[in-house]
Amino acid sequence: MNKTILITGGSRGIGAATALLAAQKGYAVAVNYASNSLAADEVVRQIRAVGGSAMAVQARVEDESQVLAMFEKIDAKFGPLTALVNNAGIVDVAARVDEMSVARLKRMFDVNVLGSFLCTREAVKRMSTRYGGQGGTIVNLSSVAARLGGAGQYVDYSASKGAIDTFTVGLAKEVATEGIRVNAVRPGIIETEIHASGGQPDRARLMAPMVPVQRAGSVLEVAHAIIWLLSDESSYTTGSFIDVAGGR
Ligand code: NDP
Repeated sequence: MNKTILITGGSRGIGAATALLAAQKGYAVAVNYASNSLAADEVVRQIRAVGGSAMAVQARVEDESQVLAMFEKIDAKFGPLTALVNNAGIVDVAARVDEMSVARLKRMFDVNVLGSFLCTREAVKRMSTRYGGQGGTIVNLSSVAARLGGAGQYVDYSASKGAIDTFTVGLAKEVATEGIRVNAVRPGIIETEIHASGGQPDRARLMAPMVPVQRAGSVLEVAHAIIWLLSDESSYTTGSFIDVAGGR
């Protein structure tokens, strides 16, 4: 069976590392991005340079019409998906709950939660044996923030990841007899540009002393866990979580 994967937010950070590793494992890789086409094109270039198949595909995951168009493009180029990584996610600047605007809250839950639901809905239609599909695997990016809570910084982000945890458990049961496994990875502090987008470019370095292993993690350390959950090596694992968080 051809292996085809969509990695939302596959153009940078954890998503990009996962895209490169998935290509090494023989997947044709759809590299989704929101606005930075140069970064997505660079991931595609690196995959093709070593003989892999990849395409860059723009879509804001929270926009239904853009998601539908993205899946049609992937269908046309690679055929039906066999794997999905719901990785696209955002943070915002540190704030207390009593300071959060409606616009901030809507954006946070739209991208982190609604986006994962929309991409999953379209993926399940292609993977599920209920729809004549061949089965597949889904990995969601949660965060240790889902159990820590993010007090004083971003309770909204943490709650959106708590929703992803519940989504993982419920969906895993819902599609368990349809050939689809659903799991999540909960990273801790990982060196990516997400911290700069939340106004704290040095966050990974500053937080390192609070991590039991005394350092931030790398994108590759997270990507390896994602790839294992996608692989047949985890064939009895569904509705499960891997914390990649240095003991935090
Ligand atoms: P980055 O900020 O480094 O990269 C984000 C990626 O998501 C980019 O490819 C970006 O595309 C894409 N993206 C952002 N918004 C959208 C959108 N609306 N629609 C589609 N794509 C979008 O993030 P990380 O690699 O750090 O994080 C990846 C995931 O891991 C997230 O879900 C995050 O919450 C989670 N995580 C990260 C941790 C960390 O410490 N880094 C810790 C715990 C969890 P573009 O370049 O076009 O903007």
